[in-house]
Amino acid sequence: MGKVLMIGAGGVATVAAFKIVQNQDVFTEFMIASRRKEKCDALVKAIHDKGYKADIKTAQVDADDVEQLKALFNDFKPELVINLALPYQDLTIMDACLACGCNYLDTANYEPKDEAHFEYSWQWAYKDKFEKAGLTAILGCGFDPGVSQAYTAYAAKHHFDEIHYLDIVDCNAGNHHKAFATNFNPEINIREITQKGLYYENGKWIETEPLAVHQDLTYPNIGPRDSYLMHHEELESLVKNYPTIKRARFWMTFGKQYLTYLDCIQNLGMSRIDEIEYEAPLADGSGKTAKVKIVPLQFLKAVLPNPQDLGENYDGETSIGCRIRGIKDGKEQTYYIYNNCKHQDAYNETGMQGVSYTTGVPAMAGAMMFFKGLWRKPGVWNVEDFDPDPFLEVLNKQGLPWHEEFGGDLEL
Ligand code: NDP
Repeated sequence: MGKVLMIGAGGVATVAAFKIVQNQDVFTEFMIASRRKEKCDALVKAIHDKGYKADIKTAQVDADDVEQLKALFNDFKPELVINLALPYQDLTIMDACLACGCNYLDTANYEPKDEAHFEYSWQWAYKDKFEKAGLTAILGCGFDPGVSQAYTAYAAKHHFDEIHYLDIVDCNAGNHHKAFATNFNPEINIREITQKGLYYENGKWIETEPLAVHQDLTYPNIGPRDSYLMHHEELESLVKNYPTIKRARFWMTFGKQYLTYLDCIQNLGMSRIDEIEYEAPLADGSGKTAKVKIVPLQFLKAVLPNPQDLGENYDGETSIGCRIRGIKDGKEQTYYIYNNCKHQDAYNETGMQGVSYTTGVPAMAGAMMFFKGLWRKPGVWNVEDFDPDPFLEVLNKQGLPWHEEFGGDLEL
């Protein structure tokens, strides 16, 4: 039924690949392509070593290069391309999809390399082109963005006449036993966290200093954790799609040690994303040096632990959900919908930790919605533009069950 090409072979892609292989009734042909073919081959080996039988093709591609992508797409002819590379590659992959008649799905909004800027305008600008080509593009189909929007859409569909207050709450109460590590690509993660905070209130966007607003929030099965207000991309589409929203915010937990390290990294200039000159030894062993340009944050990524290697000793769990206040049948209603995911369960199934798992499973589930014809309409769409019911049903069966609480104290 479905011919799918996945780009990327990192933590999230590994989980998505396991899930695709577990659902071969839907995904009948599967190729993995990434910057380094050997990583794709290692992923296929890991899948076979776990006992799964699947014929998976692999290929090398530089996803910054539209011509390389077009050659690959014309050769394999996928119906859907799942982009699990980095946000920098979103537009080149969308361009190649348009040129070759492929549909598109990703998990993070486009970011230019030289500017940490989180908004959908670049990708929404492709709406007409995808519409005219009769192709579907599904944006931000990880957990947050992704499931957070499906949760909101589900609440709006079943439990509210009007949503007034929305707080997306993201807690990682796991411990990987490293002094400092990020849970997904360090470069992308540190760019995101060091940005100014932003939230929506009464029709306006309000900026805060980075991580300046925080409070304890209590997470199910975890307890209270200090939670920090951050800008997160899905707020942009949610307040457009649900105009009754008076306030929308995003919160993420960070431990004291993590923040101390982050502070040092910033003060040392290691989170810079501009190029600096560095006097580096020549590779010819002559002992001579030459000036090279490096981006400090990219260098830092090279020395930090690889998020893909954190799984084995990761204990604890994540808890991500939406806390919503609004009106149903003329009465005030409070509602909390969430998933908890244990890092060790994710590791045992896929070899990856919970943050990769909670992103890779929804990516597969969104792709499944596409192939089943349930999330297929020409244009460029965010997750809440589609029916949340079949998607949430799939998450229940594929390792990310969700829970609901009505009438509780939302703390916010
Ligand atoms: P990784 O860095 O582990 O994986 C990225 C993969 O893309 C790597 O295999 C990398 O190759 C490959 N890649 C990078 N550049 C290129 C290129 N130019 N051409 C081809 N392949 C390339 O990242 P994660 O798996 O942690 O994250 C993947 C995506 O998921 C990111 O966009 C991230 O922002 C998003 N994400 C979304 C979340 C959500 O909830 N919505 C949460 C977490 C992440 P190599 O292995 O050689 O480096």
